[in-house]
Amino acid sequence: GEAAAMAQLQAFAEGGVNGGPLAASEPGRNLPGEAGTSALSAALSVGTLSPRQAWAAARGARALARSAEALTSIGVWEQELAWREFYQQALFHFPELAEGPYRPQWKVFPWENDPERLRAWREGCTGFPIVDAAMRQLNTSGWMHNRCRMIVASFLVKDLICDWRQGEQVFMQRLVDGDLAANNGGWQWSASSGMDPRPLRIFNPATQASKFDPEATYIRRWLPELAHVATADLISGAIGPLERRDYPEPIVSHKVQQARFKALHAALPRG
Ligand SMILES: Cc1cc2nc3c(=O)[nH]c(=O)nc-3n(C[C@H](O)[C@H](O)[C@H](O)COP(=O)(O)OP(=O)(O)OC[C@H]3O[C@@H](n4cnc5c(N)ncnc54)[C@H](O)[C@@H]3O)c2cc1C
Repeated sequence: GEAAAMAQLQAFAEGGVNGGPLAASEPGRNLPGEAGTSALSAALSVGTLSPRQAWAAARGARALARSAEALTSIGVWEQELAWREFYQQALFHFPELAEGPYRPQWKVFPWENDPERLRAWREGCTGFPIVDAAMRQLNTSGWMHNRCRMIVASFLVKDLICDWRQGEQVFMQRLVDGDLAANNGGWQWSASSGMDPRPLRIFNPATQASKFDPEATYIRRWLPELAHVATADLISGAIGPLERRDYPEPIVSHKVQQARFKALHAALPRG
């Protein structure tokens, strides 16, 4: 309810005598193994918290900030709120976004939509630890860290060559903060079919894990069956058969799929 959302916002923005996590959330906010973000998305999506209340709390924190780092941290959070508003505006002015890609050439992309691969992705059984940890977080808690949303979205679209709308639907069914505008915007950003001008981004799961989960804290938390595996192997995904036990082998080769995706993309009409 409203009271709980406001208490959560205050704890994040104001905290104790040293200020709340808001003023200290950089650079940890990109690390899924740390609780560096506000977790206010469900309250914002159901309306128990308004974006104006969140914005006002950020302005209040700005007034109290005592260092350049604190101001940077608050500025980054304000940008996140701006992304939310951007996607709301985009959907309001371009309601056709809800149906398909913003960039018309993506309408004819030859998606493969292999049901077995989609199932493995959905259930967190792809054999790519960072992807599976994230999908298990979603399936267990109804929430997923933003960095991981980008990783699993890129993986479904660019590695498994599945239409992003399938992932969008799974997210809407399972997220406690499921929001048509933010979810659609996030998926179109990841698919490269949206308004963002950079045409093609492909995330390498191992590189993402090494940058954002360098100690494999997040992977171990959500894949406890792999807790005994060495950090480097959890990050690269190259886990030996004895250590792998019942955990699946990678269902695709990132290198091969990346090349295939690029070739399919290069054959699309320009525009
Ligand atoms: C593929 C994909 C799907 C997503 N689906 C949703 C969704 O259904 N609902 C949703 O609220 N967010 C969605 N996001 C955006 C983002 O992941 C979440 O808002 C964020 O993880 C929520 O955690 P937080 O509240 O701790 O965020 P904080 O970092 O504390 O940010 C504060 C608030 O800003 C907004 N926000 C932050 N990042 C974004 C962003 N990239 N886009 C839009 N708004 C943002 C949210 O309302 C969030 O609560 C999606 C992102 C991707 C890449």
